[in-house]
Amino acid sequence: MSDDSSSPAPLPRHFIQQIIDADLASGKHSKVVTRFPPEPNGYLHIGHAKSICLNFGLAQEFKGNCHLRMDDTNPTKEEVEYVDSIQEDVRWLGFDWHEHYYQASDYFERMHADAIRLIQMGKAYVCYLSTEQMREYRGDLIKPGKESPTRNSSVAENLAAFEKMTRGEFDEGKAVLRAKIDMASPNVHLRDPVIYRIRKAEHHNTGNRWCVYPMYDYAHPLEDAYEGITHSICTLEFEVHRPFYDWLLKTLDTSAKPQQIEFARLNITYTVLSKRKLLELVQEKRVQGWDDPRMPTLSGLRRRGYTPASIRKFCEVIGVTKFNSLSDVALLEHAVRDDLNKTSPRFMAVLDPIKLVIDNYPEGQVEQLEAQNNPEDPSAGSRIVPFSKTLLIEREDFQEVAPKKYFRLTPGQEVRLRWGYYVKCTHCVKDSAGNVTEVHCTYDPATKGGDSPDGRKVKGTIHWVSAEHAGDVEVRLYDRLFLKEDMNDLADDEDWRTQLNPQSLTVIRGKVEPALLQLKPGTRVQFERTGYFCVDTKDSTVNRPVFNRTVTLKDSWAKQVAK
Ligand code: ATP
Ligand code: MG
Repeated sequence: MSDDSSSPAPLPRHFIQQIIDADLASGKHSKVVTRFPPEPNGYLHIGHAKSICLNFGLAQEFKGNCHLRMDDTNPTKEEVEYVDSIQEDVRWLGFDWHEHYYQASDYFERMHADAIRLIQMGKAYVCYLSTEQMREYRGDLIKPGKESPTRNSSVAENLAAFEKMTRGEFDEGKAVLRAKIDMASPNVHLRDPVIYRIRKAEHHNTGNRWCVYPMYDYAHPLEDAYEGITHSICTLEFEVHRPFYDWLLKTLDTSAKPQQIEFARLNITYTVLSKRKLLELVQEKRVQGWDDPRMPTLSGLRRRGYTPASIRKFCEVIGVTKFNSLSDVALLEHAVRDDLNKTSPRFMAVLDPIKLVIDNYPEGQVEQLEAQNNPEDPSAGSRIVPFSKTLLIEREDFQEVAPKKYFRLTPGQEVRLRWGYYVKCTHCVKDSAGNVTEVHCTYDPATKGGDSPDGRKVKGTIHWVSAEHAGDVEVRLYDRLFLKEDMNDLADDEDWRTQLNPQSLTVIRGKVEPALLQLKPGTRVQFERTGYFCVDTKDSTVNRPVFNRTVTLKDSWAKQVAK
C-alpha cells in the first residue's frame, strides 16, 4: 500500500463535531451558529487560523452560519488598522461571514441595560474597593473570600451609584460594578467578578459615548446570546470561566443559551503566538512589521508565500483536541511544500554563483532553449531560456576533489545542464588564494534538450543561468525566528527575546533566468533544486523582483517519519 500524503484516510470526527451531531439529532438545535471573535488589538496569527478554520469550517459542514465579531470592548488597545487586517486575513484564508459581521461595541447599550437588570434583581452591586483591596478580599484556593462593604447595599443605592459611574462622576478605578454570586465559591471566578469598570478613553467605534465598559467575562456570553450563537468555541484556559458564563445567561434568562466548548490552543515549535509578544517584536523593531515573512501572522505567512490552502490543510491535520500540545513547525512547512509542488512553475536561479565556461561552445552564440514550466503539469506550458558559452552555476555543484557518489561537476565527470546539454568538466581556474573562480567544461552538441542519442546516461542534472542574460535580484532566505523549540517552556526570569535567532534572515544576491524578472508581486515559483519562493509584495519594483524563500525543497519532516 502506498502512503501517498495526497490521499489520506478520512479524519475521525472530533469531539466538537460529535457534540453538534448529538445536538442536531436530539433537536436541541436545528441550525448551527458559531462565531470567530477576535479582539482587534493585533494581527491574526496561525493560532487564530486554527480557530477560524474550526468555526467557519463547522458552519460550512453543518450548513449554518459563522459570525465574524470584533470583540472590541476594551477602548484603549484597539485600532481600526487591526479591524481591517482581520477582515482581510479571514477572507484570504477562504472564509466568508456573509452579512454576519458584528461588533461587540454595538451592544454596549444593551449590555448596560442588562447590567441594570442585574442590579434590579439584586444580582449586582457597585463596589468601591481598590484593586489591591479587591484582590485581598477575593481570597484564594484555600481561603474563602471576604464580602465587600457595599455588597448588601440596596437596589436603589446601586442603581444610583451605577448611574453616577455611567455619567462619569467617578475617576477611573474608584468604582466598579460586580456580579453578586458567592464569595466562598471554590471557583474564584464566581467570587463576585467585576462586570463593569470605568475607562475614560475614546473608543474607535463609540467615541466618547461611554466611560464605563463591560469586562470580557460579562460581555462575551451576552454577545453570544444576542447573536443566537449555538456553540461558543474557545480555548482551554476559559474552562474555569464557564460557570460564570452559564450563571449570567441563566440569571438574565436570555432566549438563546449558547454552549461554551473549550479546545486546545495551537502551539508551534520555535514560535511565539502571544499577541503581546508579537506586538513587542514589531514595536521594538526586531522584525520589519506585522507582515514580516518571519512572523507567524497570517499577513507574514502570506508575504512569505504560504497559500491559504496549505494553512487550511495544516489546521485540518493538527486536529481538534482537549489537550494542550506543541505542533511541529515542520508540519506547516510540509503542508505548504506539498501544495506548492503541485501548483508552482519551475524556474532556474543560482543563489551562490560561480562561472562555468564551455570551452568548445562558439564564442558569441546564443541559443533559446525551451524549458517546461512544470514537468508535473504539462498544461503549465513552456518558456524560453537563453544559453551561451559562459554560464553561472551553484558553487556547490563543483568539487575539484569529489567524494564517491558525487554526481555533479568534478574533472572528468559528465552532467546534464537542465534543458540544455551534457557537459563534461575539464578543469578549474583558481585565484592566488586558491579559491575556485571558474569551472571549465566541454559540451556534446548532440545532447541538446538534455538527452544523449547514443543512450549515454549521466547521474547528475544541475541548473544554470546564462551569465550575460541573467538578472541580478535580491533573495531573502529565512530561518526560524526563535532558537528554542518550546517557547512556552522558559525559566521564570528568562527573557523570551534572548531566544531570538540572530540568523533568521539572510539577504543574498542571486542570478536568475530572464523570465523571472517579469513576475508580478505575490507570484509563487519553485527555483529548481533550491526551494519555493514568492515575489515580495512590498519591496519589489517593476522588473526588479525581490524573492522571499517560502520553504526549502527538502522535506526534512518526511525523512523523519520515514526513518
Ligand atoms: P491573547 O494572545 O492576547 O491572549 P487571543 O489570542 O485570545 O489574545 P483573541 O483576539 O481574543 O486573541 O482571539 C480570537 C479567537 O482566536 C479566540 O476565540 C481565541 O480562542 C482564538 N485563538 C487565539 N489564539 C489561539 C491559538 N493559539 N490557538 C487556537 N485558537 C486561538
Ligand atoms: Mg482573547
